[in-house]
Amino acid sequence: MKSSSLLNIALLFWLATLPALAQKEVPQSLVAIKAGKLLDPETGKTKSNQIILVEGRQIKEIGSDVKIPSNATVIDLSKSTVLPGLFDAHTHLCMTVKPQRDAGNYFFTTLLDTTATRAIEGVANGQAMLQSGFTTVRDVGNAGNYADSALRRAINAGVVQGPTMINAGIIIAPYGGQFHLQPEKRDLATPEYLFADTRDEMRKAIRQNIHFGATVIKIVVDDQQYIYSADDIRFMIAEAHAAGLKLAAHCWTHPGAHNAAEAGVDSIEHGFQMTDEDLELAKKTNVTLVGTEFPEKLSSADEHKIWVDRLKRAHKIGVNLVFGTDVDGAVSGETRGTLAISYIDSWVDAGVPAADTIRAMTISAARLLGVDKDRGALKPGLTADIIAVPENPIDNIQTLKKVSFVMKDGAVVKQ
Ligand SMILES: [Zn+2]
Repeated sequence: MKSSSLLNIALLFWLATLPALAQKEVPQSLVAIKAGKLLDPETGKTKSNQIILVEGRQIKEIGSDVKIPSNATVIDLSKSTVLPGLFDAHTHLCMTVKPQRDAGNYFFTTLLDTTATRAIEGVANGQAMLQSGFTTVRDVGNAGNYADSALRRAINAGVVQGPTMINAGIIIAPYGGQFHLQPEKRDLATPEYLFADTRDEMRKAIRQNIHFGATVIKIVVDDQQYIYSADDIRFMIAEAHAAGLKLAAHCWTHPGAHNAAEAGVDSIEHGFQMTDEDLELAKKTNVTLVGTEFPEKLSSADEHKIWVDRLKRAHKIGVNLVFGTDVDGAVSGETRGTLAISYIDSWVDAGVPAADTIRAMTISAARLLGVDKDRGALKPGLTADIIAVPENPIDNIQTLKKVSFVMKDGAVVKQ
């Protein structure tokens, strides 16, 4: 037998064991959650004294008159408000920029941290996100040599705890990626970016990513003098969609965001220089904005004003908004989760009503990630991703910083 056949058999065996492992993690137990208030993010309305019956991974029944079976474990959240687990649609779990060592520059982080280190950091960051109530993330690259695919598989197999992941693999970008190299060291962007300038390179980069476990495609439209045209972006959308994946486009500048909006990407990331015309165009072409509006403590007062102004205009114009953070660094006294949830302050500063912010953190995010048939709401048949907070977040959104209970895939991970 050729060694390649042996390898194939080993791979098939490994793949075959994954669903079995995942099922073994969560027994078909019955859990009855007594919710003092239950918030429906779609309507922004709350109902009092609801019972959520969870069987195995799934929500079986919800209502005020649900009979609690005698063999069910009862979880009393009668003093709390219960809502679906939160989403962060722009994470970099497998990167932790160290402020002192890296001088805050992630180019140094990618040079110094191996993929193995970054996978381990990904586990820790994922667990921190879960503890802060984020049960699903879309992880948009900067994960070394596919540490994100390894992390997603390990979480799905129950090897480690973490949020459900949609992951991008390696970011596809015009020559240079997001770095500025020097000609004697042209390889320093490897494996962080896949340079793709011609159509052949774009197609190949997308296929490489999918082969190595990407479940969303992430491109950088700008960040160099030469940027992707609307036609380039349309080509990559078609290639990604043909394989059933969505496409997220990093656009820091006005021309980049304009091209992405014109091409009709699934999401524009950042979009900080979007004019009102760009935002109108994005609304018309059904583009979601994942705005990553950094709180003041993670940028500067002047920059924060720009982010907040763009969020305010996008909300007023009616662009579909989804919550995403872009946290990638370590901050003393904070976790990846506490940093991520602090971004709600930018939404408060922009005057976005709490109900709209919560929708952006749950059901709208689930739709963007393509998981809304399974997650993002609390309904019978959906996966039990459930969190609880002390107050009704519609009245006081700051309560989302005090998540006291987290259930993911029907298993309690914080209580
Ligand atoms: Zn990012």
